[in-house]
Amino acid sequence: MASLPYIVGNWKMNGTRAMLNEARAIDRAAARLPRVQVAVAPPATLIYRTREAVELIGVGGQDCHVKESGAFTGDISAPMLKDAGADFTIVGHSERRTLHGETDEVVRTKAETAFSAGLATIVCVGEIEAERDAGNAEAVVGAQVEGSVPRLEGAVDKLTVAYEPVWAIGTGRVPSVEDVAAMHKAIRAKLVTIYGDAGAQVRILYGGSVKADNAAELLSIPEVGGALVGGASLTAESFLAIVGAA
Ligand code: PGA
Repeated sequence: MASLPYIVGNWKMNGTRAMLNEARAIDRAAARLPRVQVAVAPPATLIYRTREAVELIGVGGQDCHVKESGAFTGDISAPMLKDAGADFTIVGHSERRTLHGETDEVVRTKAETAFSAGLATIVCVGEIEAERDAGNAEAVVGAQVEGSVPRLEGAVDKLTVAYEPVWAIGTGRVPSVEDVAAMHKAIRAKLVTIYGDAGAQVRILYGGSVKADNAAELLSIPEVGGALVGGASLTAESFLAIVGAA
């Protein structure tokens, strides 16, 4: 794949201002690693401060609303993320799909709203364990890709897809190299069906229990263009071990 490996830290609902020191340390180290693209997605409360604290790495949101503004108490819109200094936003993370009932249609609308606001998007997909056990993982994930990716003109150029098997998130379990390779190949084929040649350029990240000791192997799999990292992104030390492996 022509583009640089892309390593994204998803801090989830973790982090107060003290975490900015981790962001600064990640940023300083990333400056010495020009062959990796690095980003973090802090909680919304820290986006502006993280943007101010770093020079090189990307800063993104973890979600956005389907609408640009309005009477939606407690929600945050894509233009607000952009205004706070975000370059991108994650949408469709399994925790949003499961805990907030987000459907593929909602995720797609969020991705389109984010693109319209000038943000790149990371659209997450992934099967639950029962779907994998039943042999349906590729069909389930293929349908999620089909339903969740943005269809606005030009959106494909700012799209990243993250394959995160739900049963691998935060569990310490990861799929076999063969299973990751097969799924990424299937996602690639689906993206080419949807977008034509442009679909061949979309980066496909792997996420789910990526750690320093499995990162090099996961990142060497064909069609794995980087990693979306949760737990191991919460300290600069553990995150940079993964960045170093890329
Ligand atoms: P994990 O989370 O690395 O803690 O498994 C990954 C994610 O949810 O993006």
